[in-house]
Amino acid sequence: MGSSSAYTFAKNGKSVLLLEQFSFLHERGSSHGGSRIFRHAYEDARYVRMCVDADAAWQTLEAESQEGLLFRSGGLDIGRKEFLEQIAQSILSGGSDCDFLSPRETTKRFPVFKPQEENTVLYQESAGVLAASRAVTTLLRMAVNYGADLRDNEAMLSYRATASGVEVTSSKGNYQATKLIVCAGAWISKVFSELELKTYVEKQQVLYIKAKGKDFLVGKMPIFIERDHGIYGMPSFERPTAIKVGDHYIAPQTDPDTRDFELNQDIAKDTCDKLASFMNLTPEILDFSTCLYTKTPDEHFIMDRHPETPQILIAGGFSGHGFKFGPILGNILFDLAYDQDSTYDLSLFGLERLKA
Ligand SMILES: Cc1cc2nc3c(=O)[nH]c(=O)nc-3n(C[C@H](O)[C@H](O)[C@H](O)COP(=O)(O)OP(=O)(O)OC[C@H]3O[C@@H](n4cnc5c(N)ncnc54)[C@H](O)[C@@H]3O)c2cc1C
Repeated sequence: MGSSSAYTFAKNGKSVLLLEQFSFLHERGSSHGGSRIFRHAYEDARYVRMCVDADAAWQTLEAESQEGLLFRSGGLDIGRKEFLEQIAQSILSGGSDCDFLSPRETTKRFPVFKPQEENTVLYQESAGVLAASRAVTTLLRMAVNYGADLRDNEAMLSYRATASGVEVTSSKGNYQATKLIVCAGAWISKVFSELELKTYVEKQQVLYIKAKGKDFLVGKMPIFIERDHGIYGMPSFERPTAIKVGDHYIAPQTDPDTRDFELNQDIAKDTCDKLASFMNLTPEILDFSTCLYTKTPDEHFIMDRHPETPQILIAGGFSGHGFKFGPILGNILFDLAYDQDSTYDLSLFGLERLKA
């Protein structure tokens, strides 16, 4: 989100300094790794509209940077009929498309899946895989191209409002700015401890599951979300003989400064068992990776002005589903920073709702 903001603000002619406490593309936060799901399927049409705009924004970034970032592969939502009908309704009213498939049609079209008879399947052509680390690198590269000054291994230690904006003290110096945009991921509630944000951090793990053969490849196998248990995954993209799978719901809470990077074997077994109930494979874990979710109680994001110092913007709580919106979130923050009307309903992301 910081990379997207640096890119957007620099592209709009602003003088930008980006500070990162660790090295760029480090693996201690939320945006590392080779892939993320891109989809339009949301139960709230406001998110669907944002997905449609993000889709166009990723394509603009691809054209501008000459880098392939979004790889279409289709997407499946597997679950109960009533819930998927609600999602389908939102997809259509949000300006996108989808089709229902029976479990039998799903297996015929995508032999790696075997949804249970009582389930319904929603298919979306526009879904796919985002090349995640490459996308962050590209946003940073394009930010530099538009004149941004990027500095890593430099933490913001404190900030204070001034008559003309804000002063930031970092581990390496002092800076004056008219605006401060803080996209601190899992550290957001520590940076703004005075606001007592009701966010919490989870240590998520993703499993690389052995999957050999062309039916598992990106472009052939859709990304998927099994809605009853929150098992999600994507085709073979990062690795030639493995799909990537995670569990959106089951993850221990942690602290970003004291966390571990170990595999939780019990959760891994549970994820594999659930996966085997709707996919045609016997899960074998080849590798794993850990990553942080920063969740809000309602899983909507935080993008708002600081209540006492409106020249400071807070962006966080992306709740495990923010990556796909990357390039448009910079636009939303730009509009907030310069009091421009947003095309989106920003009440969804306001701090007000998180007050006790
Ligand atoms: C396992 C996993 C799977 C996911 N899958 C999907 C998916 O399929 N689709 C999707 O759309 N989203 C997905 N997400 C969510 C998405 O990746 C996150 O919402 C997004 O990456 C959050 O980005 P961020 O910029 O808020 O956090 P980060 O990328 O962690 O960035 C915050 C940065 O701020 C830095 N920082 C913090 N404090 C300071 C300070 N004081 N000074 C300087 N720097 C500081 C940190 O070091 C960090 O680099 C997934 C997340 C995880 C963990």
